[in-house]
Amino acid sequence: MPSSAQDRDLAELIRQALIDDGVLAAEDFDVVISKRRESLVITTDISGRHTVRVRPPIAPQRVVGFVQAKAAELERNAIRLAKMAPRHPVKQLAAGEEFTWLGQTMRLHLTEEEGPVRRVRHEDGWLLVVSAADVRDRGADVLTDWYCQEGLAWVERRTPSWWHRIAPGSRAQPGLDVRDLGKVRVGMFDELADQVAFHWPLFQLPAALCEYVLVHELAHATRPPGTSHGPEFWARVKHVMPDGRRRQRLMRQAWLDIWTGATG
Ligand SMILES: [Zn+2]
Repeated sequence: MPSSAQDRDLAELIRQALIDDGVLAAEDFDVVISKRRESLVITTDISGRHTVRVRPPIAPQRVVGFVQAKAAELERNAIRLAKMAPRHPVKQLAAGEEFTWLGQTMRLHLTEEEGPVRRVRHEDGWLLVVSAADVRDRGADVLTDWYCQEGLAWVERRTPSWWHRIAPGSRAQPGLDVRDLGKVRVGMFDELADQVAFHWPLFQLPAALCEYVLVHELAHATRPPGTSHGPEFWARVKHVMPDGRRRQRLMRQAWLDIWTGATG
């Protein structure tokens, strides 16, 4: 029998043993055959779903015992993560709807005049002036394009001084981009392209938190290819941004409530 078929059978046996035991509900977990060094690992994602990773050979009953021993901890993790589930709002593309730019509120102002999106100071706060015809034709894309364009201009202004501090020496500053990075990533460093990219919703958050993401991704760009977070990585962030870990916590919290483009 090919090993992938054996793996599937083993995963199914373990899954069934866990369901029979009753410690995990059938719809709440997956079993994955892993080639990692650890023989048995269980993780919980933001939706509260558990993944049991096992490295063969392993007896299903050993997995059941392991999960039983961890049951209370898994329950606590699931509750904690459920509280952290994203609460991304749905916005109306109607006059007066509130959006933010670097933490500052601006109200949507639809105009019959044509022209690019503009952020303008008004007597009682900021307005985001948008052509009504563009909103009718392109919906939220008009706004996400604006965040991409303004976000890129912002990181282009802010990057050189940070890069100079975090990577003194000859290494050239990587390229920059702002675009849609999907559901999970706020920023990323692409080694092949030598480019740091940011997810457009980021620029709704206060500048101090955007600044943290910028520094985090630039720190990746100074590290050897393939290295992830670790003590050296955090030392580098802390060197230029002593309160980096605190900003990371605040950024993760704020991210849960950020608008990611849904309209209703
Ligand atoms: Zn990172």
